[in-house]
Amino acid sequence: MTQLEAARNGVITPEMVRVAERENVTPSFIRDEVARGRLVIPANIRHLAGSKGGAPSAEWIRRREEEISNLKSEISNVAVNSRLSTQDSQLTTRDSAGHPGHRPDAALWVNQTVSQRMVELGDESYCRGEASPKRLDPMGIGRMVSTKINANIGASPVTSGTHEEVEKLKWAQKYGADTLMDLSTGGNLDECRQAIIDNSTIPIGTVPIYSMIIGRKIEDLDYDTILKIVEHQAQQGVDYFTIHAGVLKENLHLIKKRITGLVSRGGSLLAKWMLTHNRQNPMYELFDDISAIMRQYDVTYSLGDGVRPGCLQDAGDAAQIAELEVLGELTQRAREAGVQVMVEGPGHVPMHEIAWNMQVQQRICDDAPFYVLGPLVTDVFPGYDHITSCIGATEAARAGAAMLCYVTPKEHVGLPKAQDVKEGCIAYKIAAHAGDVARNIPGAIQWDNDMSRARAALNWPKQFEIAFDGETARALHDEDLDVDTDFCAMCGHDWCSMRISKEITEWASGKADGFVPGAKSAKSPGLSQEQRVLLATRAAAEGLDVDPENLTQEQIRMLAHKGAKLDCHSDVADDAKAHKVQAFVQIGVK
Ligand code: SF4
Repeated sequence: MTQLEAARNGVITPEMVRVAERENVTPSFIRDEVARGRLVIPANIRHLAGSKGGAPSAEWIRRREEEISNLKSEISNVAVNSRLSTQDSQLTTRDSAGHPGHRPDAALWVNQTVSQRMVELGDESYCRGEASPKRLDPMGIGRMVSTKINANIGASPVTSGTHEEVEKLKWAQKYGADTLMDLSTGGNLDECRQAIIDNSTIPIGTVPIYSMIIGRKIEDLDYDTILKIVEHQAQQGVDYFTIHAGVLKENLHLIKKRITGLVSRGGSLLAKWMLTHNRQNPMYELFDDISAIMRQYDVTYSLGDGVRPGCLQDAGDAAQIAELEVLGELTQRAREAGVQVMVEGPGHVPMHEIAWNMQVQQRICDDAPFYVLGPLVTDVFPGYDHITSCIGATEAARAGAAMLCYVTPKEHVGLPKAQDVKEGCIAYKIAAHAGDVARNIPGAIQWDNDMSRARAALNWPKQFEIAFDGETARALHDEDLDVDTDFCAMCGHDWCSMRISKEITEWASGKADGFVPGAKSAKSPGLSQEQRVLLATRAAAEGLDVDPENLTQEQIRMLAHKGAKLDCHSDVADDAKAHKVQAFVQIGVK
């Protein structure tokens, strides 16, 4: 029984409970969204068990069935539902303090910080599989819950291999990827895919046609090979497949007027097959057979947009919309077969057309989650396409996209390395969270509010703890000032408006947690004892005589500044040196 079939039967699965916990909503809400087809939980049963490509053990199956049966008996579900309903109500007040990641059970939250992720990833017992180092930690994709991001990795025939790709997976997980696609087209594809699944707690997607043409020309691809490879990858534990079944022979003539033709690898390969054989797209012809295989393992469809526009000029053209109509038909066929389905969307769209794209997809594909590739909002900044696409992704998230496929600075110019994976993930976490705030997703703005309070209070440790990537923020702060003073290097003491606001007695701004308006305001506590000693030691080294208990603001300003910049300071280090230092500081995950 797939998640979709369970939901339609009113059953709450353990995976739905887990998704609900991570999203601050109730399990019954998740079940209803899955049944409606507006939310998918990509969870291949083999990846859920962590069975390393084999069938889950009888014991694992027995335990899961027992869990489902217990949940059924609790369907009124006082224990689970009421706890999460309380969380819901706590999060509805726009300015309530305490974002979900701050709770003692922060591990449940889907938007954990890099540090929280590091703790879990470094714990060998966390999500340990039956036979593999890791198993899937279920998550949901849909526009009624927080926006998700996907990272693409994969060896190419030119460079990389299994070890490097597993390392990229770890970087992607550390920096917030909610799912990951293995798009390998070179090296040992089977070995690499299995290694990625076995080391991943997030859903893994693939494009099976890439494996279908290894060792053969696309023209020689036959139906039997297609079904065998789909089944093989499902058996390995892949959670979702991109299948380009929407590219139809009768619509190919619409491509002729485009500037960039077909930019989807899958779309272009299948177009060549159709034109060579003068036959319909084999993925379309075999769609129901593929669905039957996917249902068996509960693999989710990600219906590929093989005709997606590859530049602004081609966006929203007749070819794109013709394919979308076919994807709408296939969405219904997949659901009838009991298979969960999301739909992939365009990668280059002018800013003012993005919201329209979201609305058209929702209407044609009956609200199936929309998984968009960026989109880039301009084509003339290669080298910075994580930024050009992040702008489009933010607007897409605001307008209802459910998942954003990241773009790295290497887009259009080369194969991403680990550092590019980080850059892409961070850019897309920003886009997703900005979209969540705009859509009033439970818990989203509370995170920002907690940061703003810490910032106004000049509470540096708390700011770096709350920050998504606190280690980078701390490193930048410490470049100039290595103690947590009542100002930072940006404006300095006298010009620090945060400090001045904090010292205005009758304002709440900048006061510490627990401040009661009307109570006598305290000035900032200033330096800790440890920091006073540090500055006094530094003064002594300079031959200055200062009293650590009575440092003047002038002395603090002079001594807190490090003076000469260290070799790794971003003003001083060249690119090679900076990357070396960053890699040393940030790798963390081994
Ligand atoms: S010095 Fe300027 S940038 Fe730094 S905390 Fe104060 S107001 Fe903000």
